[in-house]
Amino acid sequence: MPKIINKNPAKISEIVSEHEISTSQELDTMLKKSAEAFKLWSKMPAPKRGDILFKARNIFAQKKESLAKSLHLENGKPMEEALGEIQEIVDVFDFFVGEGRRIYGMTGQSELADKSIITIRQPIGPAVFITAWNFPAAVPAWKAAPALITGNTFILKPSEHAPLSGKLFVDVLNEAGLPEGVAQVAFGAGDVGEYLAKSPITKIVSVTGSVAVGRHVAQIAAAGFKKCALELGGKNSTIILNDANLELALDGVLWGAYGTGGQRCTSTSRLIIDKKVSNEFVDKLVPKAQALFTDKPDIRYSPIINLKQLEKIDSMVKEAIKEGAELLCGGKILDDGSKSGYYYAPTILKAKHGMKVTVEEVFGPVLSIIEVEAKDNEDCYKQAIQIANDVDYGLSNAIYTKDINIAMRAAHDFESGLVYVNAPTIGAECGGASLFGGWKNTGNGSRESGITALDSYTQYKTIGIDYSNKLQRAQID
Ligand code: NAD
Repeated sequence: MPKIINKNPAKISEIVSEHEISTSQELDTMLKKSAEAFKLWSKMPAPKRGDILFKARNIFAQKKESLAKSLHLENGKPMEEALGEIQEIVDVFDFFVGEGRRIYGMTGQSELADKSIITIRQPIGPAVFITAWNFPAAVPAWKAAPALITGNTFILKPSEHAPLSGKLFVDVLNEAGLPEGVAQVAFGAGDVGEYLAKSPITKIVSVTGSVAVGRHVAQIAAAGFKKCALELGGKNSTIILNDANLELALDGVLWGAYGTGGQRCTSTSRLIIDKKVSNEFVDKLVPKAQALFTDKPDIRYSPIINLKQLEKIDSMVKEAIKEGAELLCGGKILDDGSKSGYYYAPTILKAKHGMKVTVEEVFGPVLSIIEVEAKDNEDCYKQAIQIANDVDYGLSNAIYTKDINIAMRAAHDFESGLVYVNAPTIGAECGGASLFGGWKNTGNGSRESGITALDSYTQYKTIGIDYSNKLQRAQID
């Protein structure tokens, strides 16, 4: 039976877990189970579904340390970040358990006498979740919590590069008492995801991954008129104006660019900065970035997930240098796995907007600095916002300034689903009005983690109840 051998990217000699790749017969069985379970689960009162999800939430909280440890080992992110990711599951379940007591509809006014109109939301049917390796626990939770509370069942197809956390996530849900078949997990690469997405049983496909995969799966979903939610790549920027608190911006840029080794969809990959403060800022940034990789890199600095990605990062940096970018630090593979794991040096390039490295997603610890020569703050802002928006992606952007008028304009002018003022591009919060998702090629309008995530998993039904005891014809009588 072919297997996924899940290795620790910080120490590739260490095998973290092994998973048998799901065969098409197994996938068919899972799909049938998902459809069967949907009949029962969708009819259960939502507060009762919430009771089971609340039990799951408590198990996630109890097992936080061990789940974080598995995540840390398979994905390489530092333990502190892994603990934060499991906390994110707890937080997102906290929020959506409560939604089980709401899932509001609407009561309308009929045009006709003695008639009522109400609109309710109902689940859609079995869902398939196809997820990336960089948030292997939180991303399944962002999809599962709203899907389950609204009465849908799901099959998770976690990334082949970090499948353990997804499996453990589904195990906890089942331990909490979900009926059989409500939450399942399938293992494999893209072909397994594609098989599940194509099945006529599947009614919802939610993908977190690259633009190329999102575009491909969206076409499959469109052919079957399936609901499709896409959360894809980013090319995020931070603007620093000359009145910014530079110490604050320094912490924000370091965390934004190098947290999770720059392998977040929201990572800061472009720094667009007023030339007047650029030298001062860069002089402080370079040594701090270099110091992130220590003799014990697993404590603070993430490895790169695999050799292919490590080589892709390196080739993008080399290409940028060929195109004329100036290398300020890094720019090299620190370990190709021959010493321990896959590590790339924290890298800073001084680049010109338009170079490939400034417009395409790198997905690694590489920051491109783009200087703006401007006569004043207003002029700098106008140039910077144009550069920030001149990419195909639209996930997360940030601005550092003390000028409230410019900050407010930036909040409206950035073409992205997330904007931060005096804070880094990463670190999305969960629940309520904190909606996660992107504009342009980053997605198709769906949002996760906040209240509108319910839209991906429900459909509306309008019910007209006529108690006049006669035929009433709308728009005619
Ligand atoms: P990827 O696109 O290579 O893979 C994502 C998932 O899609 C994996 O499970 C993979 O097996 C599956 N897949 C691949 N080919 C497929 C196919 N033909 N049909 C169906 N499924 C297929 O992405 P990755 O390398 O795992 O993750 C990195 C990407 O994810 C980056 O672009 C990053 O920005 C993005 N991301 C986005 C968000 C977000 O919320 N916007 C969050 C995390 C990561």
